[in-house]
Amino acid sequence: MMLGRPESSQQTTARDTRYDILFEPVKIGPLTARNRFYQVPHCNGMGYRDPTALAHMRGVKAEGGWAVVCTEQVEFHYTSEITPFIELRLWDDRDIPSLARMADKIHEHGSLAGIELAYNGMNGANLYSREVPMGPAHLPVASFTYDPVQARRMDLQDIRNIRKWHLDAVLRAKRAGFDLIYVYAAHALGFLHHFLSRRFNERTDEYGGSLENRIRLMREITEETKAAIGDTCAVPIRISIDELLGEGGLYKEEVEDMIGLMADLPDLWDVTLAGWENDSRTSRFAEEGAQEPFIRGVKRLTAKPVVGVGRYTSADRMVSLVKKGIVDLVGAARPSIADPFLPRKIQEGRFDDIRECIGCNICVSGDFTQSPIRCTQNPTMGEEWRKGWHPETVKPRRTDKPVLIVGAGPAGLEAAQTLGKRGYDVTIAEAGTELGGRVLQESRLPGLAAWVRVADYRKMQLAQLPNVEIFFDSRLDAGNVLEFGFPRVVIATGARWRGDGIGHRHLAAIPIAEGACVLTPSDVMAGRRPAGKRVIVWDDDHYYMGGVIAELFAEQGYETLYLTPASEASTWTRNTMEQHFIQKRMLEKGITIQSFRSVDVIERNEVVTSCVFTGREERIAADAVVLVTARLPNEQLALDLLARRDEWADAGIEDVVSIGDALAPATIAHAVYAGRRYAEELDADPLPDGVLPFRREIAELLPLD
Ligand code: ADP
Ligand code: SF4
Repeated sequence: MMLGRPESSQQTTARDTRYDILFEPVKIGPLTARNRFYQVPHCNGMGYRDPTALAHMRGVKAEGGWAVVCTEQVEFHYTSEITPFIELRLWDDRDIPSLARMADKIHEHGSLAGIELAYNGMNGANLYSREVPMGPAHLPVASFTYDPVQARRMDLQDIRNIRKWHLDAVLRAKRAGFDLIYVYAAHALGFLHHFLSRRFNERTDEYGGSLENRIRLMREITEETKAAIGDTCAVPIRISIDELLGEGGLYKEEVEDMIGLMADLPDLWDVTLAGWENDSRTSRFAEEGAQEPFIRGVKRLTAKPVVGVGRYTSADRMVSLVKKGIVDLVGAARPSIADPFLPRKIQEGRFDDIRECIGCNICVSGDFTQSPIRCTQNPTMGEEWRKGWHPETVKPRRTDKPVLIVGAGPAGLEAAQTLGKRGYDVTIAEAGTELGGRVLQESRLPGLAAWVRVADYRKMQLAQLPNVEIFFDSRLDAGNVLEFGFPRVVIATGARWRGDGIGHRHLAAIPIAEGACVLTPSDVMAGRRPAGKRVIVWDDDHYYMGGVIAELFAEQGYETLYLTPASEASTWTRNTMEQHFIQKRMLEKGITIQSFRSVDVIERNEVVTSCVFTGREERIAADAVVLVTARLPNEQLALDLLARRDEWADAGIEDVVSIGDALAPATIAHAVYAGRRYAEELDADPLPDGVLPFRREIAELLPLD
């Protein structure tokens, strides 16, 4: 077989002086940030469990040029913790060393270290400490899991205590080496926000009622913090400008008045939206810079610098934000996760090398699942210390054996670019005519356009690597692979959606009548549509695909009924903070959603469904059913090669490895990670028996008595 033609290469451009403004220093209280790039606090699922992994992750951000690098929220007293979430803790002196390690890592690269001291109050049920949660009022704790626990109303002694605890933590944070010590009053996550908002604060004492009273505690805490450490440290306030609840919650005009009342008391205003799901909306629901209308105007209320976020990845957008006087510092959580070296790349004019965040919130899912952060675009995120990976540097190759990669989806592309950077000669054979695999197809679905960046970044990288050759229209079979005889063969052929109904609920194929119109997402993405107008989407996958397919059909004028055995549409997207937005959009598009239903039998023009609790059946007329249940790996090539293993040596093949969806279908983040892992580990010394492929820390044991 002949391989198709390679694509042409592209050049990077040099930096224009118009970006210089982003590299101006900014004074923050007694300190100076070396540029305007500010990594705002963000959670990561590592926290107190993985302190060294976390310290290294933050250190890499500093190395990448972020002038300020902050922690996630740090619980400052044991009477308020948010188990099961894994954040940082500063409960007593024993917590100082792990925090100091992070501050040191940040300082190593000349950045300022910020710490976000948090007291969640009525946001946590205190499942670990078993203390009674406290808030401004007697109210059920506002956790994500409707815990059957109430917070008690703080009395004035409680308020005095909490001020003292905050101050103790401030002093410990300073001892740990932090430069910016936050007063955190944002996101409806914590006592100060709860005091600010009339939703939670119904007090009639000096801490409730008027605006002055509701900000009193924030003011006292800010003043006390400044008095204690303000000579050497900066004290930012993080506040939510709007809860997007109209005048029922905190809203822009009200919060602007609050900011006006404390205008120059803090050293910086860090302005967000509340709750977190509004602040970190996915690209499916918010564009880059969606917060701009909210942040706009804050700067005229204060002489102090303002930082705001908006999933900014475009340097031009950042420049205009600063020039228009909307912010002084460009805040970022996700863009700094997807590309810890974003500032350095802008500084060096390496725009083509920027790994732009796609706004998928897989990073957020780490926090929600209490697992170390992962990122779709940046597979090294969270692995900096655990595996010794770095977002920008790779180990040089250890052999000169070339590698054949079959399939140019996210797994194949990431393996290719990383191997290419290591110096291996790489050949990619792709059956289609474009790079990107599933990402290309999925990014054409409603709301997922930004996902194409997964392919775009890797295309740009490959274009700079003369040792990577790409061949299109090259669907390989086992015979071709044997004929080519590359010593290393990577099978990254992806997966396809299955059409037999097997998924989470049905472990055996469901009965499907002959002539019934049954489609899978693969069919839909390939352009197939039913003849009739009544479509049932059966979502037993529970991530985004079912909801997106339903949206597509509704947009195209089909009468769309979405069935799920779960309690709600796309239920896993709770972990990406999208579920609420998804269900709202589906309902607004006229999609009927039925929860707790199973699709059991598909007949011609009719579907037998049942209630997942009672088994009671209901027949629903439908012209077509889209089965969004599970996928099957495209493993034929791997199986065929395995069957011909005795021919490998003669062909010069040493090993054949399946990665990504071709091994076991999962998220795009999994596929990118799989590609990276293959490339990082190629030719590495084998791990000694019993040694784990990652580093971890183990809790210190105290004496038994
Ligand atoms: P992953 O998410 O694991 O990277 P994708 O499904 O996104 O997987 O990508 C798989 C890619 O592999 C697709 O672009 C597909 O066209 C290509 N492919 C599948 N089978 C072959 C084959 N036998 N030869 C070459 N390319 C293949
Ligand atoms: Fe952006 Fe997705 Fe990476 Fe989060 S996981 S930083 S949203 S690309």
